[in-house]
Amino acid sequence: MYEKSKQLFQRAQQSIPGGVNSPVRAFKSVGGTPLFIRKAKGAYLFDADGNKYIDYIASWGPMILGHAYEPVVKAIQEKAPDSTSYGAPTELEIEMAELIRSMAPNIDMVRMVSSGTEACMSALRLARGYTGKNKFIKFEGCYHGHADPFLVKAGSGLATFDIQTVPGVTGGVANDTLTCAYNDLDAVKKLVAANKNEIAAIIIEPVAGNMGCILPAEGFVEGLRRICDEESIVFIFDEVMTGFRLAPGGAQEQLKINADLVTYGKVIGGGMPVGAFGGKKEIMEKIAPLGNVYQAGTLSGNPIAMIAGYTMLSELKNNPSIYKELEEKTAYLHQGLDKILQASATPYVINRLGSMISIHFSDHPVVDFATAASADNQLFNKYFHAMLKRGVYLPPSAFESWFLNNALSYDDLDKTISATEESLKEIL
Ligand SMILES: *Cc1c(COP(=O)(O)O)cnc(C)c1O
Repeated sequence: MYEKSKQLFQRAQQSIPGGVNSPVRAFKSVGGTPLFIRKAKGAYLFDADGNKYIDYIASWGPMILGHAYEPVVKAIQEKAPDSTSYGAPTELEIEMAELIRSMAPNIDMVRMVSSGTEACMSALRLARGYTGKNKFIKFEGCYHGHADPFLVKAGSGLATFDIQTVPGVTGGVANDTLTCAYNDLDAVKKLVAANKNEIAAIIIEPVAGNMGCILPAEGFVEGLRRICDEESIVFIFDEVMTGFRLAPGGAQEQLKINADLVTYGKVIGGGMPVGAFGGKKEIMEKIAPLGNVYQAGTLSGNPIAMIAGYTMLSELKNNPSIYKELEEKTAYLHQGLDKILQASATPYVINRLGSMISIHFSDHPVVDFATAASADNQLFNKYFHAMLKRGVYLPPSAFESWFLNNALSYDDLDKTISATEESLKEIL
């Protein structure tokens, strides 16, 4: 069933470390051979062996309207003959910035980069440059890309491989990274008190997706906002996953909380390598060439990436019913899975918000990294393979949120629910 993928994986490992260009793709935690994808359309992936899968990864988020979404593909095709990069400004970049501002709250100014990693790295540097302080707080299990300061208790990819400390990240860098458990406001208060006037920023996934899907507890994000106001700390929302996914205005809109800086990635590029960070004018003006916080990128604002992102965001802005449809589909899946899982008598937790959802095989609520890690993740791995065999492609780790795309039909959801019923019979 996976012969070609197996051959390709063998071959890939000769010239690519681990055979993949990003670790979680390797299926290392769930075991088995990663599938090599040949193409995708709508809600479906097709692997090298010609197998078809219902896709719940959506390229880890960007394919919110399904794969090979016609308007995006067409826009790229029409733009490519005008050259694929200039290294000089274009009107399209202004339109992109204006579109982002019109959709997301609190974005006075925005700068484009090429990945979520770059966006978070730059936002942190900016927060430090703006405040003149060095330390920052992140939450255990939250992932903010692979820049050095963030690779401390950094969620999915590292948790999947049980990596605790990362060789190559120096003590000097790690010492400025302070960590707390997600949803533990008292711990944040203590940390802030113990590091008075030293903390530049608090960065958070406002809805976490890198330890499975975890929701902020009532009052948690509000409490952080208050602390940031009182202590002149820059509050950074990492909306690389949630931006343009939970709502046109992302988690800021969904949770009704204003961030000082916001980072974007994934959906914002419509499947092209795009990230962005933006926020208050007063802070954003500190970036070069206006200010002296340096940040740059040869391919930042790349015209092909911009037209893909612009087209995607325009579709989302002009058809706000997409969010309602996605939410309804995810709720439907949630209910269906609930029914099957309840009947199986296996302890489980489903966390969901909007079109983000995940299952933890856990007998306790999953509210932070520790509670996610102490779920029965071996059982998840079995579930993953049982589902894959039945044509459902879930994230290959219990530490990842599932992302629904709007090309999914109710028939696809029904198939996913009955595949779960069969899978549980097989693995329990
Ligand atoms: C994916 C992700 C990143 C990193 O984005 P890349 O484009 O992979 O560099 C940062 N933060 C969050 C919350 C993410 O999910």
